[in-house]
Amino acid sequence: MDIMLVLYAIHCAVVGGFAAFVAGEKNRDQVGWFILGFLFSFVALLSLIGVPSLVEKTEKSDASSAPTESSTDQKPLGYISDDGKEWVCACGTSNKYFPAKTIQNCSSCRMNRDFALGR
Ligand SMILES: [Zn+2]
Repeated sequence: MDIMLVLYAIHCAVVGGFAAFVAGEKNRDQVGWFILGFLFSFVALLSLIGVPSLVEKTEKSDASSAPTESSTDQKPLGYISDDGKEWVCACGTSNKYFPAKTIQNCSSCRMNRDFALGR
């Protein structure tokens, strides 16, 4: 019977260690999950699989504020070069910029200039 007890203790330690490893990957308390894995074996492992990963507080606040920012102000697809002589389309093509021409399209993808520049 002693050998079975030793094997069981090893099994508990291995499962506990694995639970602690997965908990670490999920930014969760490794010591707490080692104890849970040690005591409840695969039940604790299944629970650990079910719980979501904890995200750092700073990342969490950024993720919650990001959708509201992107929905309120639309960023232009293209931009005018620094010297003001060219405008770069959303597709990445540089086109000559003629301020006098009201209607101008990209030489590559035919996208309207004013639309690409967000006007
Ligand atoms: Zn284009």
